Amino acid sequence: MGASNGTEPLINLNLNVRGLSQSATLRINELSRQLMRDGHRVYRLGLGQSPFPVPQVVQDELKNNTHQKDYLPVLGLPELRESIIEHIRRHQGTTYTADNVMIGPGSKELMFILQLVYYGELLILTPSWVSYGPQATIIGHHIQWIPTYASDDWRVTPEAIERICRTDPSRPRLMILNYPANPHGGTYSETELQAIAEVAARYRIVLLADEIYGHLHHEGKHVSISRFYPEGTIISGGLSKWCGAGGWRLGLFAFPPSLAALKDAMAVVASETYTSTSAPIQYAAVRAFRGGIALEQYLQHCRRILRALGRTMTERLRQAGAELVTPAGAFYLFPDFGPLAGALQARGITTSEELCSRLIAETGVAVLPGSAFGRPPEELTARLSYVDFDGARALCASQEIPVSEPLDGRFLTTYCQSCMDATDLICRWVRQ
Ligand code: GLU
Repeated sequence: MGASNGTEPLINLNLNVRGLSQSATLRINELSRQLMRDGHRVYRLGLGQSPFPVPQVVQDELKNNTHQKDYLPVLGLPELRESIIEHIRRHQGTTYTADNVMIGPGSKELMFILQLVYYGELLILTPSWVSYGPQATIIGHHIQWIPTYASDDWRVTPEAIERICRTDPSRPRLMILNYPANPHGGTYSETELQAIAEVAARYRIVLLADEIYGHLHHEGKHVSISRFYPEGTIISGGLSKWCGAGGWRLGLFAFPPSLAALKDAMAVVASETYTSTSAPIQYAAVRAFRGGIALEQYLQHCRRILRALGRTMTERLRQAGAELVTPAGAFYLFPDFGPLAGALQARGITTSEELCSRLIAETGVAVLPGSAFGRPPEELTARLSYVDFDGARALCASQEIPVSEPLDGRFLTTYCQSCMDATDLICRWVRQ
């Protein structure tokens, strides 16, 4: 037998990830970092990470709790679970109870263990966030993609859900509805939510309302679908987006009493895997969910900046020939460069993967291909996260401008320059 060159396994490894590679969001982040280490200028519109700092009051609370060293209950710190319930009640008026809240190390992990304990088909929209599908694939669940269309602003219609469910009405199903939505920033009106809730109730769908961007609705007007289907809706949230604390890894699920058995089953898995969520982070999170003036003001400014930037970038991309939804929340745009397909094809670009790899190679702008969000490979869509700016500096500057005034182009070129430059680069590049 010849000597191994170190890359061939000496032992036959049966790896159980069903041919998946690392998540697209994390890969683009690592690629961007590597290119920067190698001295390249990179515009980081890949990973969807809040540009804003964790609010000072929440950071202070973390400092006050560095001594917290004990393992906490599997379901989470009781005070935190209480403060979350109070928070949901204040913002949505829905009456979930603290004993039915579960804290986890990121809502992503909670979603995974939900899918692990719930035996049913997964209904997800195309497009939707990169990890819902792969989680189901790892576990071995059937995925039923629900198509949505740019002409409907990528909103799912009750008819589309109905069409799938009526073929086998009693099949157990879990549907994930995320809004304001990743990857396009769109949301739903109350009437639309009511109609979706109605069909979900008719087919007894377990609805996972991924409301992680709820507080980043650009006008502060997020409405939870749990208002219309409380008996079947699990609210999913966390600190990552509205509190700028993705790396703190704190997520939550709030269950209605009728789904408490799911939470208990998830607690079994949690207790045998991650045990409990980081103690100092949970204590600090109590402060975040208690809210108050400082946090409201912080959010007001975050929203105003994101709204101005999202709208301006949308207009510019449209002028360059792309089609896209004007975002209502979060920090994502999902342009379709289909109208420029002819010119792009002439340059050898026929898929969203090629679009994104050529874009980063030729301009330094990192974005993610539509295919990572469940779109057909040859559709020329891409997700842009408009987060590449110094959020602390932008917040300070916004605080100097009366809240009644919208932020103008000068503000954006001064405080969100990388995003504006990246937009110009994309617009010029696609029209070359
Ligand atoms: N949700 C973020 C995104 O879509 C990043 C977090 C993650 O994917 O784990 O870019």
